[in-house]
Amino acid sequence: MVDSFVVRIPESLYKEMLAHIEAGYPDEACGVIGSVDGQVVKNYPTANAAEHPDDFSIISDADLIRIYNDVDEYDGDMIYYHSHPRSEAYPSARDIEWAKRGGYLYLIFSLQYRPEPPYARVFQIDQNGGVTEGKVEVI
Ligand SMILES: [Zn+2]
Repeated sequence: MVDSFVVRIPESLYKEMLAHIEAGYPDEACGVIGSVDGQVVKNYPTANAAEHPDDFSIISDADLIRIYNDVDEYDGDMIYYHSHPRSEAYPSARDIEWAKRGGYLYLIFSLQYRPEPPYARVFQIDQNGGVTEGKVEVI
């Protein structure tokens, strides 16, 4: 079992993330945020390397390694984020399969209520595919 957790995102970074996922619409958009003690300190928007970016999102290994090395400089944690253009902000079966390997937190934006603003939820996905929801706080 994982205790409930909170991811705090400064409003300026949150707006950057929103701009990135809006720019990717109607495809899924993705990226990584680096956090220290649950507080997001840096945004790394990336390209979506999936074969069908309207349906899934994948960050290339080259991008992941580059980001990993940068986050390592400040001993941060990586949180993977992506958007669901048409569906709810909840991990899909395929998201869960991928997340099981990586062990990252997953922050998902949904644009399903467009033109209403996207909303975000964050999840921890364990190796058995168990999903625990945390709390997103924009500060
Ligand atoms: Zn997804």
